[in-house]
Amino acid sequence: MIVKIRCPKCGADHVIERPKRSGLYSIPCGGHSVIFYVDPDGMVREIYAATEAPRVDGVSRLRLVNEKAWPDSLRPLKPAILALLEGRETHADPLLLEAIKFLVKIGVLEEVKEE
Ligand SMILES: [Zn+2]
Repeated sequence: MIVKIRCPKCGADHVIERPKRSGLYSIPCGGHSVIFYVDPDGMVREIYAATEAPRVDGVSRLRLVNEKAWPDSLRPLKPAILALLEGRETHADPLLLEAIKFLVKIGVLEEVKEE
């Protein structure tokens, strides 16, 4: 299904194939990104703009150690965070990075020590 997503920052319209999986997605939009969340029913929600999404080098060195402690409030972000951990996704918006930092702090994710 094709959906139109309007950038809240500059008003540009992006016509895209709606992602089939629930999760956070981003579309580059000239110097910034449009971030949107697709819920499990396939609805596009929470469209917002972010400054250029930073590459998440280092996130792949995190692993899930205590899945049971994953807070309900962050459950919608779980597919996107797991995609980052597994290297299926390499970009994260600032919201996602904050969530990841928090998950490390409460012991849900752990940094994998190498060497
Ligand atoms: Zn834009």
